[in-house]
Amino acid sequence: MCRHLAFLGPPTSLAELLLAPEHGLLKQSWAPRRQLHGTVNADGFGAGWYAAGDPVPARYRRAVPMWADPSFADVARVTSSAAVLAAVRSATPGTTPDESAAAPYADGKWLFSHNGRIEGWPHSTQTLVAQLPADRLLGLESRVDSALLWGLISAKLDAGETAGNALATVVTEVSALTTGRLNFLLTDGVTITATAAGDSLFWRCGPSGTVVASEPSDDDGNWHEVPDQSLLTATADRVDVRPISVEWKEPILI
Ligand code: GLN
Repeated sequence: MCRHLAFLGPPTSLAELLLAPEHGLLKQSWAPRRQLHGTVNADGFGAGWYAAGDPVPARYRRAVPMWADPSFADVARVTSSAAVLAAVRSATPGTTPDESAAAPYADGKWLFSHNGRIEGWPHSTQTLVAQLPADRLLGLESRVDSALLWGLISAKLDAGETAGNALATVVTEVSALTTGRLNFLLTDGVTITATAAGDSLFWRCGPSGTVVASEPSDDDGNWHEVPDQSLLTATADRVDVRPISVEWKEPILI
């Protein structure tokens, strides 16, 4: 299914992060190497990034393949950021095909992406949907399982839960109802929080910053694979990986 990537580090151009690497997100849109489900990611793409001094990120999303949008390549060449989240999409059948369903989803300072699917959506999620007040339910960004997951997670964040706790709780709640793949990626521009739950996830951390991604964008040997059923928390210079089942009551890194 989809491929996604988050970055924290010294300001770097979107082109350098997403388009230039030999096996970066652009290449992964037609030739992913570690994707466990699906073949190509040509049903849209999106990038979100933070500008210095503004806590609310900008987004660029389209319903076309990343390779089919020369305007994005042009913007990406001259746009640098210290915090980026981007994704290429392979749409789950029965979900909205337009750009509203292309990650990243956003709410205030947050950017979110989901790689995976909820089996039996929407019927299998009836009891979870009932948790959401009407304004949140009707305000979901799109008609897709990922938007519901983001609605559930963002409600927990607004209620004051830590990012790690919000992601881990939703993985646990959905897994209690149905099967699915629930690789989440979340950032507020300062911390990255991610789950590995059904598909591949890797990280790399060094002088050029931290990258958390569905798969390595090159073969430099500094990538670490995250075990399935893990929760990852990262800053620009540190990464922590633990089993999802551990209780997440406190922020891990800050
Ligand atoms: N279910 C989500 C969608 O339709 C994510 C799909 C994916 O990971 N390929 O967009």
